[in-house]
Amino acid sequence: MTDNPNARAAQLTHLRRRKLKKGDPVALPLTMASMFNLPGTPAGFAQYGRFDNPTWDAVEEMLSHLEDAQAVAFPSGMAAISAVFFSQLKTGDRVLLPSDGYYTTRVLAARFLKPLGVTFDLRPTGAFLDGGFDGYRLVFIETPANPGLDFCDIAAACKAAHTAGATVVADNTTMTPYGQRPLDLGADIVVAADTKAPNGHSDALFGHVASRDEKIVAAVKDWRKLSGAIPGPFEAWLVHRGLETLELRFDRMCSSAETIAARLLAHPKVKALRFPGLANDPSHNLARVQMQRFGFLIGLTLETEEAAEAFINGCDLIQPATSFGGVHTSAERRARWGDAVAPGFVRLSVGCEPVEELWRALEEALERS
Ligand SMILES: *Cc1c(COP(=O)(O)O)cnc(C)c1O
Repeated sequence: MTDNPNARAAQLTHLRRRKLKKGDPVALPLTMASMFNLPGTPAGFAQYGRFDNPTWDAVEEMLSHLEDAQAVAFPSGMAAISAVFFSQLKTGDRVLLPSDGYYTTRVLAARFLKPLGVTFDLRPTGAFLDGGFDGYRLVFIETPANPGLDFCDIAAACKAAHTAGATVVADNTTMTPYGQRPLDLGADIVVAADTKAPNGHSDALFGHVASRDEKIVAAVKDWRKLSGAIPGPFEAWLVHRGLETLELRFDRMCSSAETIAARLLAHPKVKALRFPGLANDPSHNLARVQMQRFGFLIGLTLETEEAAEAFINGCDLIQPATSFGGVHTSAERRARWGDAVAPGFVRLSVGCEPVEELWRALEEALERS
């Protein structure tokens, strides 16, 4: 495996070719199967749809190639996060979670870990190293944190957490393996919602866990098989197709986000802006060190809730929606879900539209907001 990112991207769409026999379809067949033809000794063969599926195998091969680690596919990002929690934690363990990360991760811990005797603490991502990691079995980081886009130093957090004896999990959903590589920076486990940019077409939920530690991978696979939290073959097939164009889409989205963030910063209606690619962003120096790209998410704050709603709902090229990472630009006001952000804070997910057309539409909507 090369660590040249372009070589990794170039090889991705040729992984399947190496196994093709003459006359096989070039495109991945969708295998819908609960049963497999299985006379006699079952070992070494696909056995049952909860254990094996060739379409999962194909998407896991791609995700493993991208992560340079073993990847295990799940039906959603939350199923991947649950698999890590329930395969790694036991009663008496303590977990550290980001207070400003993806909300559902905290709710999951409160509703389903705490009653099992797994306690957790919350800490803001921007101050994640303050206070150390003594006593934690598992340290969960999310950087850039969704939605506020604060950062923590992944390599430094991993080093300190490992010294304290903790396992580090990084939720890399906002960046994908093309934008940030937490395993290379020392994390033990990556989790991600492939629902977002990796699938990219807003038509499937999916997730994965990746690790270079065989014991962790084996436990996560056992969790999937025994809990039954398995991805559907059709969703796996869609994500396989999405991954073929991820590099192209991600490149366009990140480049457009850089252009648009710089122009939003200069716009009088924008009261505050978070984008790690801007030289004045508090995370810029760290972003340059630990990320390959600055991502496609922009946090912009307009004067009021009404202005933010008018901007989102009045723009021809914004799809008002929760979630992000689709080919179409989308946005939402995160305070509507109770996130600790200003009422006029908008999370803008820059899509694949030609950037000058997109900017024109955003600027017009800002003027009207
Ligand atoms: C969306 C998201 C998830 C959850 O993914 P689902 O596929 O919706 O379950 C987890 N973490 C982050 C950072 C997310 O943005």
